[in-house]
Amino acid sequence: MADCLFSKLIVGEIPSKKIYEDEKVFVFQDINPQAPVHFLIIPREHIVGLKEATAKDAEILGYCQLVAAKLGREYKIEEGYRTVYNVGPKSGQSVFHLHLHLIGGRDMKWPPG
Ligand code: AMP
Repeated sequence: MADCLFSKLIVGEIPSKKIYEDEKVFVFQDINPQAPVHFLIIPREHIVGLKEATAKDAEILGYCQLVAAKLGREYKIEEGYRTVYNVGPKSGQSVFHLHLHLIGGRDMKWPPG
């Protein structure tokens, strides 16, 4: 996807603070962190967002959550963290390449804003 910010970030065309990568996903530090740990987990394959995902994307959606759990262990935030997909304009979704937020390392409030 030529015009996709996160696709450019995966190939290094735009710099990022890489946290983890493998053959399926790329994980990097959010540029505007909302907590001590705020990572974005993105599939290498371009998927626009959760509401655009289809049955063929089921495995990668689950895989992103498992990567979040692995990083939650590694970064010692298992006392409390969130994995979040912002979906649609009212949620604040601003980048249209599927990304799972992993947010933790501080007390969380409920309901979220
Ligand atoms: P969302 O609002 O769910 O679409 O989240 C997009 C996230 O991408 C926001 O938390 C931004 O801070 C983050 N972001 C935007 N541009 C960059 C970038 N170049 N590097 C890292 N994070 C970014």
